[in-house]
Formats: sequence, C-alpha cells, structure tokens
Amino acid sequence: MTDRYAVIGNPVAHSRSPEIHAAFARQTGDDIQYERLLAPTDGFAQTLCSFRDGGASGANVTVPFKLEAFAISTEFTPRARDGKSANTLAFDGNKIIGDNTDGFGLCRDIEQNLHQPLRGARILLVGAGGAARGVTSALLSCKPESLVITNRTQSRADAFVEECGGSEHFSAIALDLLSARQFDVVINATSASLSAGLPEIPVTCFADNSLAYEMMYGKGMTPFLKLATDAGARTADGLGMLVEQAAEAFFVWRGVRPSTGPVIAQLQRPAT
Ligand code: NDP
Repeated sequence: MTDRYAVIGNPVAHSRSPEIHAAFARQTGDDIQYERLLAPTDGFAQTLCSFRDGGASGANVTVPFKLEAFAISTEFTPRARDGKSANTLAFDGNKIIGDNTDGFGLCRDIEQNLHQPLRGARILLVGAGGAARGVTSALLSCKPESLVITNRTQSRADAFVEECGGSEHFSAIALDLLSARQFDVVINATSASLSAGLPEIPVTCFADNSLAYEMMYGKGMTPFLKLATDAGARTADGLGMLVEQAAEAFFVWRGVRPSTGPVIAQLQRPAT
C-alpha cells in the first residue's frame, strides 16, 4: 500500500519538498505519495488531524506552524524539544511524534557539502525566530569555539540564550556591538531577505575565508549574500539544507537514508 505524507504550511505552493521526496523514493524504491497541504493560519491542527485520520503516515511542517507542530506532538525527540519546534511528524495510531531535522540538515550541508568545519569555528547566527531556535542545539553539538546570536529585537535573542542557559560558548550580542567581532561562519536565519531587507550586521564581521549562509533559498543574490560577497566571503543559500533536512525526515519515516548529492544537483539545474 502507498504510504502518504505531506508538507503543511501557509504559504506552501512554493515548497519543493514533494519534488525532493519523489526523487528520494525513486532512488530507494519506496512506494510513497507526498503532497502539499495549505492550512489556514488558524487551522493547522484541523488540517493535520484530518490528514492523519485519512490514513497518512507522517507530515513535514513549514512556516508558520513549527511551534504549533511541537505543541500538538504527543511525544517528541530531544532535537525537537531543544528548540520547542517540530518540522517532521510521524503518526503512530493516536500518537504524533515530533522531530526537528532542520539543525541536522544545516550542519550537514555546511560541513559535508560546503566543506566548512564547524568544530572550533566562530559562528554568528542572525535571527531569533523559529529557524534560529530550531538549529541552535545542532550547531552547539558541532562544538564551535563560539556561537553568538544576534537579532533585530535584541530582547528575543537574550531571552532565548537565557532559556537555553548561556555559556562561554553560547551568548547573545547586540547588533551595534558586532563591529568589534569577526566570524568564520555567518548564518542569516532571519526572514529579512523575503522583503529584500538586510539585518544590520557590519561588513567587517566576515573573517578571512569565512562562509556566509543564507538560510532562505531560491532568491538569488539577496542583500545579505551581496554584503558577504563584497566582504570576500564564500556564500551559499539554504537549498542544500532543505534537501538534507528532507533526507533526515525520510530516514525518520522510512529507515533508509537517500543520497542527497544528486537531488541537490537536480534542484540547482535551471528549469528547461
Ligand atoms: P520567523 O518569522 O520565526 O522569524 C523571523 C526572524 O527574522 C526574526 O528573528 C526577525 O526579527 C527577523 N527579521 C524579519 N525581518 C527582518 C528585517 N527586515 N531585518 C532584520 N531581521 C528581520 O521565521 P523563521 O525563523 O521560521 O524563518 C526564517 C528564515 O529561514 C525564512 O526565510 C525561512 O524560509 C528560512 N528557513 C529555511 C530552511 C531551509 O531548509 N533552507 C528551514 C527553515 C527556515 P525580530 O525578532 O526582530 O522580528
């Protein structure tokens, strides 16, 4: 019998997850169907439960429902609990098991695909929303020299660090104090680029040979990537992360890990 999955979000029409999971299933020979489900902003729980009650096996969750996905989970993995957000749900009878594969996907893209070591690195994480929260514990588990978080609304970054228990390796910093610091990896986890905006980080924050990572994907040369390019940094967008987090979700659901390289290459090819 064909197992059914979906990505639930609002908006969701742009999501490339169906294409990615179809490519994984072709590789592994798994018989799955994966669709997009648009949930009303006040109707996530209802959309999810009717999908599950219709016999589905699991779901991915995207903006703006990751916190609700965590809240509705009846059980969760440590990596979902750490950021209090879930992007991968597995259904088991009445149980909903919440997981979060975003941090795994980000670290794997940076270390394996982009060959940028995170161990011992000085990392700046810009943003304190769901995406930043979801990847923090995975970044810390890579043992960076430091993970510093900054945000337009500084109190949100401060509160998040306090919640997690800050340390010499994990702290928050105000945007206007960044001019005195340099980083090996700068990750833009804000949604500023959606509206062609730029977080107010100084061009001097990029160290020599640094990597600038735009978590959003498919927007071309965003103001953040332009700033980083002007500073001489290497740049990447979040397409690799998207595919890596999807592969980890596929593994959670199916117990088999698809190969991501060909799928990233497929998505990077211009449409003909
Ligand atoms: P949220 O809405 O939860 O958080 C938005 C964050 O962006 C906040 O920190 C907010 O700051 C900041 N922000 C918004 N506009 C601006 C601006 N103009 N200048 C500076 N900061 C700004 O969104 P998410 O955290 O869920 O998502 C963030 C991004 O990450 C999205 O673009 C999403 O597409 C991407 N993403 C990519 C993934 C992938 O697989 N590649 C996976 C997950 C997310 P403030 O607190 O001050 O409002």
